[in-house]
Amino acid sequence: MKNALVGVGVLSALGAAGVVARVRGSRMAVPALVSPNANRVVVLGAGFGGMSAARTLATQKDGEDLDVLLVDRQNFHLFTPILYQVATGGVTPDNVAHPIRYVARNKGFRFQESTVERIDVENRQVHTDDGAIPYDYLVVALGSTTNFFGIDAVQEHSLTLKTLGDGIGIRNRVLDALERADVEQDPEARRALLTFVIVGAGYTGVELGSSLRDLLMTVLLKDYPTIRPEEIRVMLVEAVGRVMTGFDDSLVESATKTMREKGVEIRLNTPVNRVEPEGVYTADGEFIPSATVIWTAGVRANALIGDLPGQKGRDGRVSVNNCLQVEGHENIFVIGDSAAYVMPGDERPLPANAPIAIAAGKTAGKNVLHALRGEPLEPLKYRREGQLVALGRNNAVVELFGKVKVTGLLGWFMWRAVYFYKLTGVKNQLGVLLDWAFGLAGTRETNSLRTP
Ligand SMILES: Cc1cc2nc3c(=O)[nH]c(=O)nc-3n(C[C@H](O)[C@H](O)[C@H](O)COP(=O)(O)OP(=O)(O)OC[C@H]3O[C@@H](n4cnc5c(N)ncnc54)[C@H](O)[C@@H]3O)c2cc1C
Repeated sequence: MKNALVGVGVLSALGAAGVVARVRGSRMAVPALVSPNANRVVVLGAGFGGMSAARTLATQKDGEDLDVLLVDRQNFHLFTPILYQVATGGVTPDNVAHPIRYVARNKGFRFQESTVERIDVENRQVHTDDGAIPYDYLVVALGSTTNFFGIDAVQEHSLTLKTLGDGIGIRNRVLDALERADVEQDPEARRALLTFVIVGAGYTGVELGSSLRDLLMTVLLKDYPTIRPEEIRVMLVEAVGRVMTGFDDSLVESATKTMREKGVEIRLNTPVNRVEPEGVYTADGEFIPSATVIWTAGVRANALIGDLPGQKGRDGRVSVNNCLQVEGHENIFVIGDSAAYVMPGDERPLPANAPIAIAAGKTAGKNVLHALRGEPLEPLKYRREGQLVALGRNNAVVELFGKVKVTGLLGWFMWRAVYFYKLTGVKNQLGVLLDWAFGLAGTRETNSLRTP
């Protein structure tokens, strides 16, 4: 009783001090941190694009009365390039998540954890699950979602790899499949449990497939003596005639050979037209029994982009001009996976990737400041540096500046060096380094992360 009274006292003191407290979804108080005359810049999404925009705005403002508010449904920034390693036990989930409030405090912008529900362009406000947020300038960086291409029941019966929860979910499903196979006597059911199908052999599918095969064959088999190596199948099913569309031909050939040598079954020219709980149906009528189907076949813009004016592509991305504004709305900038930006001289929009989102975040941030100062805006500048795709243990394909091509162990070192360097936060860098060291010694995270 005494403890309860002390608790109530502390809570009232916090409330009186104007501390923000979220109790079962309701916001009790908002701190009066913002001057009433400030220009309100709202950045939606704390991924690669949004973090870059908020940082630029906060660090390059120069005496302007500016309130920079970053909004995201989660309070951490996710480092997606190594998310597949969370799914395959190579990296601890916490090590790919960086706290946004830490960055906000250090760089000088505000953060609000809310889910955006609607963008009301006419009234210049964003509706969230915590109420409406008015804006003078809006930077939209809400990223993309998995594209299921309207194919039957795919969403219901397959796993995806976009969020940290997805990464943990895949890891749990793989481990569950092995636990169930361990006690399963029926050969058909056992076959489905030990067949892992990844649909879509883009960069994510290739990295996930290679690493999953390594996890199963080099780590988990030792722990499940009832499972024979020949029972385990990892399949990469791709609709077109090659893996990693857009990557250099010779490197694609090398990657395909490496994966096949590793034992990944690659099915090219095999569109999938249905996914059921028992497995996958291909367009040519084949049924592949599988208890674990992971869909990495494509992305489309966040559905909230539909609220914005302007022309949208088939993938839902909205066209922006070379300064990243939505045509006819000079105070709205769209960046990253949500935007379709065509560089001068190009025919197709830039692809959806992290370096482009970061570059666009910088440009959008600077352009808001230019607009406030009455200066001319600047176009997006982006120079393609290269691409790196990991092929599991000790192997990767790397292409730099369209000229340098590296494969094998050296490629793997380069892959690790680049992503180690790009990881946000020293704590995460050291954590990943430790995870990788354990991985080299043959240990991965193999707990099903689930609380009863
Ligand atoms: C598994 C995987 C691997 C990848 N590997 C690479 C790679 O190796 N190299 C590379 O360059 N790119 C890679 N990418 C692509 C890269 O992650 C994206 O291109 C990049 O993140 C796009 O940045 P963005 O800011 O547009 O969106 P994101 O970084 O996706 O950020 C969007 C943010 O919006 C938030 N959000 C979404 N909806 C709402 C809502 N309704 N309310 C509030 N917040 C919301 C999300 O929580 C998220 O924080 C990978 C992507 C994935 C999924």
